[in-house]
Amino acid sequence: MDFDLTPELATLQLSVRRLAQEKIKPRARDIDTSGDYPSDVFDAFRDADLLGLCLPTELGGSGAGILGLTVAIEEVAKYSNTAALMLLLTRLPIGPVMIAGNDDQKKRYLPGIASGDLRAGFGLSEAQAGSDVAGMRTRAVPDRGRGGGWELSGTKCWMSGVCEADWYTVFAKTGDPSSRAHDSITAFIVERSWDGVTVGRTDHKMGVRGIHTGELVLDSVHVPVENVIGEVGGFRLAMLGLNAMRPIVAARGIGLAEGALMYATEYVKQREAFGGTIADFQGIQWEIAKVAVDIEAARLLTYRAAWLADQGKFTKEYVPFLSMAKYFATELAVRASGLAMQLLGAAGYMEDQPTELWYRDAKQLTIVEGTSQVQLGLIAQGVLRHDLWWD
Ligand SMILES: Cc1cc2nc3c(=O)[nH]c(=O)nc-3n(C[C@H](O)[C@H](O)[C@H](O)COP(=O)(O)OP(=O)(O)OC[C@H]3O[C@@H](n4cnc5c(N)ncnc54)[C@H](O)[C@@H]3O)c2cc1C
Repeated sequence: MDFDLTPELATLQLSVRRLAQEKIKPRARDIDTSGDYPSDVFDAFRDADLLGLCLPTELGGSGAGILGLTVAIEEVAKYSNTAALMLLLTRLPIGPVMIAGNDDQKKRYLPGIASGDLRAGFGLSEAQAGSDVAGMRTRAVPDRGRGGGWELSGTKCWMSGVCEADWYTVFAKTGDPSSRAHDSITAFIVERSWDGVTVGRTDHKMGVRGIHTGELVLDSVHVPVENVIGEVGGFRLAMLGLNAMRPIVAARGIGLAEGALMYATEYVKQREAFGGTIADFQGIQWEIAKVAVDIEAARLLTYRAAWLADQGKFTKEYVPFLSMAKYFATELAVRASGLAMQLLGAAGYMEDQPTELWYRDAKQLTIVEGTSQVQLGLIAQGVLRHDLWWD
């Protein structure tokens, strides 16, 4: 057993740490205030070859894998969860294509992600179907009039990066619309430029501003048969894709928690009160210690989850280990940013400090890509089935 990062990953960690300190940290507040997409941050990631961490070298990536992306996101999330989300989006929408796409799809849609020429979005959720994805209403029916293929209609919502994406992975019902069977759902690649594809309303968000979240409206969109990902009825891809994403979302939580705790620790060391500093109080020290313990626990869970995912171990029997990382690290982000705000007192509540921004950003993490309750349900099922068992 070796708990050290490989020399390559350690080098990546250090270089992203520097980039985050120099280029992300000074921009974090402005991105939140303006809500504008930070193209300069995208360019910085592209110039540093960070957009293809998850992609193999033959598809233009660097082959650093999910663990590499996890390590990079942890560094970036110390300062900006918007920037961390930007990196996450280099994997979330392309996951199903990487897992089940054919060679043509991979060659057509993936190298552009690594080079920064293409961006993608992930369309699973609908207004009435978030956790309960089987309730989706977006339909795909055989398109008999336009030379075969499929015709998609429906509205996806809350899609991260919807405005900037060039293509989308979209899930739609190909079977009976009232069916809750998973094999009634299929994944498609849909290009932004196609007839009938529009971006609908965008959301006014509490945090993670700068990467727009909103609707993708599909109005009788013709999708050629070659843009079906995997097989028709391949809903399983959504779950496999999301399982492999758990450590990557978790990394956003860990980085945020680390950034918040480091910032608050430096603050209490210099904040004078009652003839000393706030850091002198045991009550404060214990709170710092508890979050420090949780950060290290979250890192162990998350790095293991990333290591599993990189070996293709993201099928059902590994779900508890992956879900634990997402659940624990994202709940920790809320707790750590809350503590940081509390330790700064009134100052922490004001926009002069980053703490209130971290607190708002953190809350997104316990909702997206499977809420905390959904993760707990998955972990419990794993224990009940003995996928997670200790003898
Ligand atoms: C900022 C942001 C970005 C997003 N980006 C994307 C994206 O790019 N692509 C995409 O497809 N979606 C995206 N989403 C949507 C996100 O994945 C969903 O919000 C999430 O899956 C939860 O669905 P919901 O909001 O409908 O909540 P609901 O499913 O309605 O859940 C509401 C509450 O009920 C609880 N609950 C639901 N089911 C259970 C259960 N079985 N047991 C116990 N409790 C339960 C939940 O935990 C939650 O607390 C994004 C959301 C946000 C906020």
